[in-house]
Amino acid sequence: MIPFNRPPYTGREDEHVLAAMRSSKMSGDGDYTKRCHDWFEEQVGCKKALLTPSCTQALEMAALLLDIQPGDEVIMPSYTFVSTANAFVLRGAKIVFVDIRPDTMNIDERLIEAAITAKTKVIVPVHYAGVACEMDSIMALAEKHSLYVVEDAAQGMMSTYKGRALGSIGHLASYSFHETKNYTSGGEGGVLLINDERFVARAEIIREKGTNRSQFWRGMVDKYTWVDVGSSYLPSELQAAYLYGQLEVAGQINTARRAIWSRYQAAFAAFEGKGLERPVIPVGCEHNAHMYYLKLCSLQQRSAFIDSLKARGVMAVFHYVPLHSSPCGAQWGEFKGDDVFTTSESERLVRLPIWYGMDEATQDAVIESVRHALKVA
Ligand SMILES: *Cc1c(COP(=O)(O)O)cnc(C)c1O
Repeated sequence: MIPFNRPPYTGREDEHVLAAMRSSKMSGDGDYTKRCHDWFEEQVGCKKALLTPSCTQALEMAALLLDIQPGDEVIMPSYTFVSTANAFVLRGAKIVFVDIRPDTMNIDERLIEAAITAKTKVIVPVHYAGVACEMDSIMALAEKHSLYVVEDAAQGMMSTYKGRALGSIGHLASYSFHETKNYTSGGEGGVLLINDERFVARAEIIREKGTNRSQFWRGMVDKYTWVDVGSSYLPSELQAAYLYGQLEVAGQINTARRAIWSRYQAAFAAFEGKGLERPVIPVGCEHNAHMYYLKLCSLQQRSAFIDSLKARGVMAVFHYVPLHSSPCGAQWGEFKGDDVFTTSESERLVRLPIWYGMDEATQDAVIESVRHALKVA
């Protein structure tokens, strides 16, 4: 069986995880966490990076930092992971879903303004498949209406928009290091990226159970105490050490993934328009090959396609069921405008196996199975 994903692993993780295990500090914010923070601050160019146990928790921290109150409205696509919405629902927000663009599956920036009301507080663009949303338009809208932007860049590490790293553009942003993403901190993990300096001090407090412990360690206060709401949003040093082994070779991982992605893209060029659509990368966007997907003609055809691949030992999978069609999405969210593309495009999309270290023979087997499936589907 050819799996859909294998967690990224380079071999460099071992020495770092062992070093963390044998050090005198395995709890959060040790040496490896600091090294990771420095890497992100330098590479992304954010004011502050804070590792979290998951991207979900980085998004929860964002909602706390923005002081989301019951009744506040948060605009996002319906075609996203549940955590994008849940982080804000936990604070009592109402989720306002806007339709996506069919070319990138990202929120349609031209539809956002019509969804803004006096209660709107945040726009959450999700960079699907590591391909950037139209951030210039989104940031201009946010400025015009005094809104915050939280980039859900869970899939977007190492991607850029007009030369700028995804995660460096909104007021706040997050990456995920879940094992299904391009880089992992040992199965689960995330990072909160802070681009607006005003949030840095409070973020450190919220992440440390509502205490000013970080300031205490830096000698800025003479005792540490409970000063705000908070939770425990620190990953262990073992997670940071695992991630650090991958950050050291982040460019190499990115290059390898892009080569696999480009090989798929070339292999299916001849099918474009003949019952198959390939991904579109807009001008100005450099992507990280997080995902390789195809779009078929219909839900029925996609099911037959997935079955055909499965019969040949290839795991291909569909993706999000739009949140507004879920029980909780209906309860806490509202779709503004028409659902022209969200449901119809999501039903046609299927993701092919891709992982760091996938060899050409394995990829050729997938390509061959896809060619076969297209004949029978
Ligand atoms: C993976 C993902 C998340 C959640 O990441 P975790 O680290 O698993 O919490 C959130 N949003 C999007 C778009 C994702 O792809």
